Amino acid sequence: QVPNALAKEGPVSPSYDWFQTDSLVTIVIYTKQKDVNLDSVRVDHQYDSFRAETIIKDYSYLIHIELSHAIQEDFSVRVVANVGKIEIVLKKKENTSWECLGHPLENHNSLMPKKDRGLYYRKCQLISKEDATHDTKLFCLMLPPSTHLQVPVGQHVYLKLTIAGTEIVKPYTPVSASLLSEFKEPVIPNNKYIYFLIKIYPAGLFTPELDHLQIGDFVSVSNPEGNFKISQFQELEDLFLLAAGTGFTPMVKILNYALTNISSLRKVKLMFFNKTEDDIIWRSQLEKLAFKDKRFDVEFVLSKPTSEWNGKKGHISLDLLSEFLKRSLDKSKVLICICGPMPFTEQGMRMLHDLNFSKDEIHGFTA
Ligand code: FAD
Ligand code: NAD
Repeated sequence: QVPNALAKEGPVSPSYDWFQTDSLVTIVIYTKQKDVNLDSVRVDHQYDSFRAETIIKDYSYLIHIELSHAIQEDFSVRVVANVGKIEIVLKKKENTSWECLGHPLENHNSLMPKKDRGLYYRKCQLISKEDATHDTKLFCLMLPPSTHLQVPVGQHVYLKLTIAGTEIVKPYTPVSASLLSEFKEPVIPNNKYIYFLIKIYPAGLFTPELDHLQIGDFVSVSNPEGNFKISQFQELEDLFLLAAGTGFTPMVKILNYALTNISSLRKVKLMFFNKTEDDIIWRSQLEKLAFKDKRFDVEFVLSKPTSEWNGKKGHISLDLLSEFLKRSLDKSKVLICICGPMPFTEQGMRMLHDLNFSKDEIHGFTA
């Protein structure tokens, strides 16, 4: 439900305050909303600029200041969810009393639609790169110590590199480090590292450059974007995931999150479309997960199989979908997520409408 204040003109503007002890400066953001969490705020201290962007529904509230005194590199961020308060605790470099927090920079203390804010980037270091298939790699990037950023489930970021003197930007969807870790406990967000599964296209513009980076090199990473909402999981019973090729990437965190946090969930089924067996990302992890967790099933469909392949073949079709999308109970609450090449996602969404699934039951990753 959208609170009244949000219905027309956007949320009531947040405000902020600050206080200090000998060694600490605490900036408090009063969001005046209850559903804030650690994903809602992105904090960066780069050069002379301290920046804290808070996302409230589709709005962005910015604190942007040149601090009056030096601080240490790392800081902590806490959320008091029931009162909608965010606290950023900075460590002073010297134990002196600050007379003011600092000088306002561009758009300080402003609230505006998120889409008008523009993307903000910070440089992240390449920590490791591992083969996931013959052409797809798992990249691990490390955020700077002076950044707090958590990418929400189902959202993507932009990676930026300068190629032959021109800045090139492409979207990528962070994944978990694996499907099998983080499993017993509710997902504990790891704030330092961001993982990506990225397919290298030899004739592509961006991915060969990314592949040529050395461990220790830097890539710029933007703030998260995307319209998937965790609230789509509320009281969910059946989750169906339709992924083609690297369209698998948003499904990774969705799968981990749903199996760990959604107590109403009965069944999660992934139908994973690829050209050949060699192209299947994390096949053995998926098979292990299906073995370990009885709620999860995976089915592979190949469009260019070898003659030895005994599994399902072909492209996405009404026949495949109508057989696959069986509710576990007559009226179970369903969500179907679909992601892959544009024609795959568009055809699939049309077929889902033809199969009488409603708009609310379908999430297409079409960004
Ligand atoms: P491009 O230069 O875009 O080329 C891609 C392929 O098309 C190459 O084979 C190239 O030879 C061919 N090609 C290029 N131009 C033409 C042309 N004119 N005619 C015919 N063929 C052509 N990808 C991932 O691997 N992982 C992810 O997590 C991921 N997340 C994404 C999230 C979103 C929201 C979106 C929209 C895309 C995502 N992608 C992801 C795709 C990614 O953004 C890039 O499109 C992809 O990496 C290709 O980039 P590139 O510059 O290397 O290749
Ligand atoms: P791919 O070429 O290896 O194809 C994988 C499968 O997709 C094929 O086996 C086939 O079943 C299906 N497919 C491909 N082309 C099709 C078509 N024209 N009609 C119907 N089905 C088709 O795939 P890839 O190279 O891994 O590409 C993955 C795509 O997913 C990229 O275009 C990427 O941009 C997109 N993607 C989007 C997001 C997002 O959030 N929007 C996230 C990740 C990836």
